[in-house]
Amino acid sequence: MPESLPDRDALAPFEALLGSGGVLTDPALTGRYTRDQRDLMQGETPAVLRPRSVEEVQALVGLARAQGFGLVPQGGNTGYVGGATPEPGRRQLVVSLERMTRIRAVDPLNFTLSCDAGTILADAQKAAEADGLFLPLSLGSEGSCRLGGNLGTNAGGLQVLRYGMARDLVLGLEVVLPDGTLFSDMRTLRKNNIGYDLKQLFIGAEGTLGIITGVVLKLWPAQGQRATAWLELAAGAPIPEMAALVRRETSDLASTFELISASSLGLVTEMRGAETGLKAGPGGAVLLELTASSDRIPLDDVLMGCLEALMERGWVVDAVLAQSETQRRAFWAVRETIPEGEKHAGGSVKHDIAVPISRLTDFLARGAALLAERLPDVRLSVYGHVGDGNLHYNLVVPAGRDRVAFTREIEASFAHDLYTIALEYGGGYSAEYGIGRFKRDLLERYSDPARLRLIAAVKHSLDPDGIMNAGALV
Ligand SMILES: Cc1cc2nc3c(=O)[nH]c(=O)nc-3n(C[C@H](O)[C@H](O)[C@H](O)COP(=O)(O)OP(=O)(O)OC[C@H]3O[C@@H](n4cnc5c(N)ncnc54)[C@H](O)[C@@H]3O)c2cc1C
Repeated sequence: MPESLPDRDALAPFEALLGSGGVLTDPALTGRYTRDQRDLMQGETPAVLRPRSVEEVQALVGLARAQGFGLVPQGGNTGYVGGATPEPGRRQLVVSLERMTRIRAVDPLNFTLSCDAGTILADAQKAAEADGLFLPLSLGSEGSCRLGGNLGTNAGGLQVLRYGMARDLVLGLEVVLPDGTLFSDMRTLRKNNIGYDLKQLFIGAEGTLGIITGVVLKLWPAQGQRATAWLELAAGAPIPEMAALVRRETSDLASTFELISASSLGLVTEMRGAETGLKAGPGGAVLLELTASSDRIPLDDVLMGCLEALMERGWVVDAVLAQSETQRRAFWAVRETIPEGEKHAGGSVKHDIAVPISRLTDFLARGAALLAERLPDVRLSVYGHVGDGNLHYNLVVPAGRDRVAFTREIEASFAHDLYTIALEYGGGYSAEYGIGRFKRDLLERYSDPARLRLIAAVKHSLDPDGIMNAGALV
């Protein structure tokens, strides 16, 4: 252990509280908690704490205060902006909620799921399914991300178009505050106007205002029926108009509208070393899925009608309809493999852009012109959820270039010009991933003074000693 880190004595009370498996100090065990998902930052921690109950979380916060430690809440450590990575030199203990995974209740009449914040997202989905219900939060990392992290980052995902983001799905929350007290608001109430909606303060706060320990999520009836299509887009197909037409023609039954550029599809083909069987048109491709809970809705007919309307306008040149669950999964596998395809090609520099949906076409045209002018030889991989105006605007690291050095170079110049374009259209530079440790300078650079003052005031009033995730966001 480095000299600057505390000796065993400082950690002894935590061991007494959490038991031997509750405090990890061996670097062989703590390594996976201290390295960020994108391998851009090597963090450092005296110990990883693994509480099993809300009471243990409260007690460990008290101990950390007494011993002068900072705390970094961590879920699945799948975040992309270093928000869950303890900073070297800050004496930050990682608080992993991986042992707090209890499904507390599923209520089929209230359409709610109450569970511990350490629950893996996929397990929460399964718990809902077991009762004929549906939790629409769904992301590529759902097998390893945890609900606390999903709320900490206000995760979006694949079904935002119809159901909204994590923030829109929360009815109740339980949070251990920086002074160790418990804010318990695990209500299943839909209508609740009792003062400020305090739970929203902790959603998207990236662990800087407290440790979320429990959550009540909204559920929907299980979506037993699906109709899925892969669309090949014509050159210049207008994405905003297409998405609006799909909503109208399907009576808002579309849960997914994923844009996939030809180059992103190409990365998947390269990685697999074989054709995917799916093609992109000159304007790219869209994975479109409609879902319904009732068998009485002729979903295939609705989809066909929608495709005809898109083709009549010349926006879609061809479409493949999934004829079986296997084929549907094959469509999805292509979409979900894009991040791996980027890794296989040498990695990518990610720009997590959002613009109002109506400005997507303008943004894409300006972005392409900027890239052609500044980095004509760099491959672009653009894909995204569209429903939330969110695009992954990723630059593939050129062969032979060091990924980290290339990332730093892009972030120092090109990225700023791209963000400026997004901001001009009323958009932003962090749509999904938050600010974390990697985008703090952007928050400072692009926020007006009133916003920064409010952020500082909220942080100071809840966490005056800066114990919670210092260095992230604020
Ligand atoms: C393949 C892949 C696909 C992805 N797709 C998407 C996507 O479609 N949409 C999307 O939004 N993101 C996506 N992500 C990013 C990431 O999965 C999400 O940000 C996710 O919500 C993070 O959850 P986590 O449990 O891993 O959180 P972590 O990475 O552990 O933490 C993220 C932040 O939340 C805080 N936090 C964690 N737990 C708590 C808690 N209990 N209380 C308070 N704060 C807490 C942390 O301190 C940190 O600031 C993807 C990532 C990968 C690797």
